[in-house]
Amino acid sequence: METGRIRVLPPALADQIAAGEVVERPASVLKELVENALDAGARRVEVDLVQGGLGGLAVLDDGHGIHPEDLPLAVTRHATSKVAGPEDLVEIGTLGFRGEALASLASVATVRLRSRRADMEVGCELTVMPGGDPSVHPVGMAVGTRVQVEGLFATVPARRKFLRAAATEAAACVEATLRLGLVEPAVALVLRNDGRTLVELPAEPAGARVARVLARRGYPPPVEISGEEEGIAVRAFIVPPAGTRRGRGQVHVVLRRRVVAERSLSRILASVLADHLPPGHGPAGVLEVEPPPGTVDVNVHPQKAEVRLKEPQRVYGAVRAVLARAVSQAFGPAGAGPEPDAEPSRSFTWSEPPAPAPAPARDGG
Ligand code: ADP
Ligand code: MG
Repeated sequence: METGRIRVLPPALADQIAAGEVVERPASVLKELVENALDAGARRVEVDLVQGGLGGLAVLDDGHGIHPEDLPLAVTRHATSKVAGPEDLVEIGTLGFRGEALASLASVATVRLRSRRADMEVGCELTVMPGGDPSVHPVGMAVGTRVQVEGLFATVPARRKFLRAAATEAAACVEATLRLGLVEPAVALVLRNDGRTLVELPAEPAGARVARVLARRGYPPPVEISGEEEGIAVRAFIVPPAGTRRGRGQVHVVLRRRVVAERSLSRILASVLADHLPPGHGPAGVLEVEPPPGTVDVNVHPQKAEVRLKEPQRVYGAVRAVLARAVSQAFGPAGAGPEPDAEPSRSFTWSEPPAPAPAPARDGG
């Protein structure tokens, strides 16, 4: 072919390229499928991996299911039941909205999607494989949906070779499951690998769920604090200073039911706690922030791992105010923490200079 000339890619290739944004490894498949189950109102979600996902994975839920006529649409790009018009993008209440996950997946793996709605006698199964024609047939099943993925990247060797050993992929799936567990504590979540249970989260209150997730990481139960400032609700589950460890620590930020990479927010928790922690120790816990409706743009990242705040300084200020109040109440005045470690540590990496406190009652943009 002539160099330098522009051509339109064949749809299958365009799909595989687009899939790269969403489907990276078994853990990212797991995340998309479990998010779909949560969006479908499931009470229980079970994930089964074969060889850490390298040999396939399946997600079963007891949610509301998919209409049989919609099955082909479910795996069609830009087809979704969650968004109808531009106004819906202002306040997205579901975890998904891009209508891309299943389509992406079907372009790089064989996908068997079976689903039964409560108003249907039987379920229906759709099988799609990269480059193949989809087929549909009825199946007996309980109400809900099961998505089975096989041969991930089998037709895309360039991606397949980036997958790691089964144990590494399984560990990433454990991490993804624990993070999803922070989103919806009322939903039971189970992860198995080759039949062995790796994660079992029963439906439980938020505090118990956070404690369970933190316990997996060797932390003692957290202290719950909460408050509101300027219409911004803040709740945090913080591991008491005596239970923290050396290193950066581990803070998950949950914004509007999404576990997001919002380093500014986790840094605020770190800086508020700094004087309470033994030197060299990092904070651990979960910080939940609920900004007012219409002030969070979740449509900025293909894997939805980041969000954009309309008035970040206002949110940061509110979080700082609530945390500062509650932390000194919960853990006493700064500096009165547990006996500090003997020698100061150089691994004090999380404690970057705190952001300047915003002027009160003014938007920072
Ligand atoms: P999105 O979640 O962004 O809408 P997906 O590709 O993940 O896009 O899913 C496409 C559609 O398939 C969803 O909008 C939903 O209607 C349907 N769907 C997918 N998974 C499930 C499920 N587990 N239960 C019910 N419906 C589902
Ligand atoms: Mg989705």
